[in-house]
Amino acid sequence: RATQQPPQRRAKARPRKNTVRAKLPETRTPDDAASSAGSSETESDEWHERTRHIMKNLPRGVDESAARQLLNEIVIHGDEVHWDDIAGLEVAKLALKETVVYPFLRPDLFMGLREPARGMLLFGPPGTGKTMLARAVATESKSTFFAISASSLTSKYLGESEKLVRALFALARMLAPSIIFVDEIDSLLSSRSGAGEHEATRRIKTEFLIQWSDLARAAAGREVSSSSGSSEKERERGDASRVLVLAATNLPWAIDDAARRRFVRRQYIPLPEAWVRKRQLERLLSCQKHEIGEAEMERLVAVTEGFSGSDITALAKDAAMGPLRSLGEKVLELRPDEIRPIRFEDFEASLLTIRPSVSREGLKQYEDWAKEFGERG
Ligand code: ADP
Repeated sequence: RATQQPPQRRAKARPRKNTVRAKLPETRTPDDAASSAGSSETESDEWHERTRHIMKNLPRGVDESAARQLLNEIVIHGDEVHWDDIAGLEVAKLALKETVVYPFLRPDLFMGLREPARGMLLFGPPGTGKTMLARAVATESKSTFFAISASSLTSKYLGESEKLVRALFALARMLAPSIIFVDEIDSLLSSRSGAGEHEATRRIKTEFLIQWSDLARAAAGREVSSSSGSSEKERERGDASRVLVLAATNLPWAIDDAARRRFVRRQYIPLPEAWVRKRQLERLLSCQKHEIGEAEMERLVAVTEGFSGSDITALAKDAAMGPLRSLGEKVLELRPDEIRPIRFEDFEASLLTIRPSVSREGLKQYEDWAKEFGERG
């Protein structure tokens, strides 16, 4: 593990667009909204310009329509997630900083023994922040973020998928540093191979593994040749050493053995502990009128044991509707300051319908897999 850590970038003071807070209107002042709209316009102009440049300079052999599709649907730009937006998960954040963020920002320090991993798996129950973490990694490492769901590769893009996979890796190298984030990786790299597996799915899986190996080989080659200066051809093919496959799954046991071993690091993303639930609840409530005191907060933290981050968000959203629900039609006439604060009873009512999405037995399965194959966090 690397011990040298470059100075951390200061958190940007710009408005965030895709965070829990931003989804709640009270947090945004008119100024925020105006500057955010302005910045997203500039961003989209810049992106448009960049896209044109990329399309003009596509590496040979990359399918044009696949590249266009990637740029339109798969590359995420604009909406940023930062470390601070994610409650808890300190161990996972640290692992991601060490594995991806620092090496991407300071490639000169991460060579040889400190060579970064080419693949990292985030596994754990659904709704625990795996996607948020991947997005934060992309933001904090100033990387191009390719987000693809493996199940859409094997369904929506089926037929085009092999071309898309090839273009995905080519563009990732061209636009490096890049994160290729594959959600639901189990549906691509499952162990259901063999006779039962759909022929087309098998082909995509093979193509994905080939491209991934090529990437690792090219990255290793570049490190060897980097002292003597890289050739024109290498430069044209982009910077393979700063492309990482980051994958997420709720079903880690479904990934086949060989594919699992390719993920040198496998990070468990567990359900939130009490202090993390508290922080998340406080953050969600911070921008709302409420009457949840310290004692009630402690009760809420206790009753949400076993909830995932997304269960907690769902619960808080539902409870926030409480004050409006009791009003019925009158809600249409009242001014915002006439709406009563959110109370503990609202949470109690919501708890009747919003239940944790992972059962105790389900959780045990993750814990067991983490013990056998993962790093805990
Ligand atoms: P996963 O990829 O693990 O299924 P996501 O990252 O998509 O989960 O999280 C889903 C939603 O749950 C997020 O958009 C956010 O509202 C909430 N959430 C989950 N985990 C956290 C967390 N650690 N901190 C803040 N919000 C979270």
